[in-house]
Amino acid sequence: MTTINLNQLLKQHFGYDGFRPGQEEIISNALAGRHSLVVMPTGGGKSLCYQLPALAMGGLTLVVSPLIALMKDQVDGLRANGIAAEFLNSSLDNATAAAVERRAQDGGVSLLYVAPERVSMPGFRRFLHTLDLRLIAIDEAHCISEWGHDFRPDYRTLSELRADFSDTPVMALTATATERVRRDIVEQLALDDCRQFISGFDRSNLTYRVQPRQAAWESLVGLLDERRGQSAIVYCFSRKETEEVAEGLTAAGNPTVAYHAGLDAETRRLTQERFIDGEVPIVAATIAFGMGIDKPDIRLVVHYALPKSIESYYQETGRAGRDGLPSDCVLFFSEGDRAKQEFFVQKMTGDAREAAERQLQQMVEYGRLQSCRRKYLLAYFGDAMDGDSCGNCDVCLAQRQSVDVTLVAQKLLSAVIRTGERFGIAHVINVLLGSKAQRVRELGHDRLSVHGIVNDYDRNRLRDIANGLVEQGLLARAGGEYPTIVVTDAGREWLRSRASLALELRVDQATAQRQPTLASTAVEAGYDAGLFERLRALRRRLADDAGVPAFVVFSDATLRGLASAKPSGPQAMLRVSGVGPAKLERYGETFLATIREFGSQVPAKM
Ligand code: ADP
Ligand code: ZN
Repeated sequence: MTTINLNQLLKQHFGYDGFRPGQEEIISNALAGRHSLVVMPTGGGKSLCYQLPALAMGGLTLVVSPLIALMKDQVDGLRANGIAAEFLNSSLDNATAAAVERRAQDGGVSLLYVAPERVSMPGFRRFLHTLDLRLIAIDEAHCISEWGHDFRPDYRTLSELRADFSDTPVMALTATATERVRRDIVEQLALDDCRQFISGFDRSNLTYRVQPRQAAWESLVGLLDERRGQSAIVYCFSRKETEEVAEGLTAAGNPTVAYHAGLDAETRRLTQERFIDGEVPIVAATIAFGMGIDKPDIRLVVHYALPKSIESYYQETGRAGRDGLPSDCVLFFSEGDRAKQEFFVQKMTGDAREAAERQLQQMVEYGRLQSCRRKYLLAYFGDAMDGDSCGNCDVCLAQRQSVDVTLVAQKLLSAVIRTGERFGIAHVINVLLGSKAQRVRELGHDRLSVHGIVNDYDRNRLRDIANGLVEQGLLARAGGEYPTIVVTDAGREWLRSRASLALELRVDQATAQRQPTLASTAVEAGYDAGLFERLRALRRRLADDAGVPAFVVFSDATLRGLASAKPSGPQAMLRVSGVGPAKLERYGETFLATIREFGSQVPAKM
């Protein structure tokens, strides 16, 4: 075993020059015949951890994976690299399935993908006994645990598979698992002597942002305009909203399809395919969309509605930037959003309701956060972050400046007291801004002396200041469902003292949040954006001809590598990450010709 050169296999079969953190240790553990539990964030490169051992060990590796759509893409991707991979699921007719089974028995299959329900069939397990089974990989292993966010009863039958093949090493993989879920996976699968490989949860290439719900539509269109032609998911609250958003965005020049569980299976499948293939760049979806999405080049995930928990938010935003390139996650948020989700929570009872309530509360806290969002997300999963600033979330990116807020803070505190400390911050702000809303009039708050006394700050700024005052301990939130805001003892003391007060406030949200455009990203990253676009078009054509998703041909990262290295011949092309012998043979000539042609058309500048 030790004579196998893993690096050589990596380049030969996948075209990669080195391992990602953790991969090599995990692979070695499997090669040594031991069980592993792998917890690695999305995009970390989990698949390779069992795919490479499959090639190194010979025989057959069984891969249990929950979704049919995912299987086909994975198998297509492996085949493009010249690897003998097959899948067995209900989408195949009997003759095709029988042919796959025969090939597996003849030793012609390295990786066999199956859904968990197949594993529970006795007939299938008898078939497995006729194979040279060397490794069992269980993807999305958290599905086995009721404590996870995506329990699937089918996964429970995997313990029978384990009992049947107790000598075969298992690799269980997941992107999200709390301590409790990890323990559950190990117990359910009876993985004695299992080594756990837990990489941190940090997705350093993702930028987390929260934007005010106000003017959300304009902001959304702006976000998509800045990323024309790139893939994005917009998560919506309801089926109806997905359709409205899709229609509105399409009308605004950003072709978008809607996806939700109310569509028939065929439409859902088609929609998903069109998105994965890159035919339609944007999908407006309910959370029904995602498990089957293994698309590496999603550049933006927007939550137009409040997610129900941090865990879901992490999972859903995790679909962005699997290829490791910079991508954005934007949550539109207002205090009022909570009420919509609360509607569902109210229907629950007992412990479940309490848990849902707590999870929703954590999500609201995330929305309000005035400190690093990444740190908060990581802390949720028990990961500590070094320092207080990640430099890659809206809070850390925003330039801050110390602003004297003495006067406006006095007004805010006074308004809270005058309105009786029984209302949420939104109402207090309404009063301060002189709103004539029915509720304000009914309560007689339009006759208070604080009504309309602020005219030099807008609503968002006031909210920022109020949040700052909460952090300073001068205001406090009380009550759960519709939090009211009250003045603390310290707040009263401060009012009496007439001391001045300064807060660190964002300089200018609009400009601070602007992303570099595609072209400037290209210059920074040192590749030729024109050539990149040309190669993308070529990839599209080749993928269409072969009937596979674009990323099966080459990933965005590899196209950028090609656009930067501009290889002149096969040897140079092989040096680009993501190009191995199989792909060189299949696509080398076509890509090299396009690169050559581009070079002769456009004389290199500078
Ligand atoms: P996960 O399943 O953990 O979300 P994947 O296995 O889909 O991640 O891998 C994410 C991306 O990283 C894929 O495009 C994959 O080809 C790429 N990748 C994995 N390992 C490496 C590596 N060692 N070098 C370069 N790219 C890699
Ligand atoms: Zn941060």
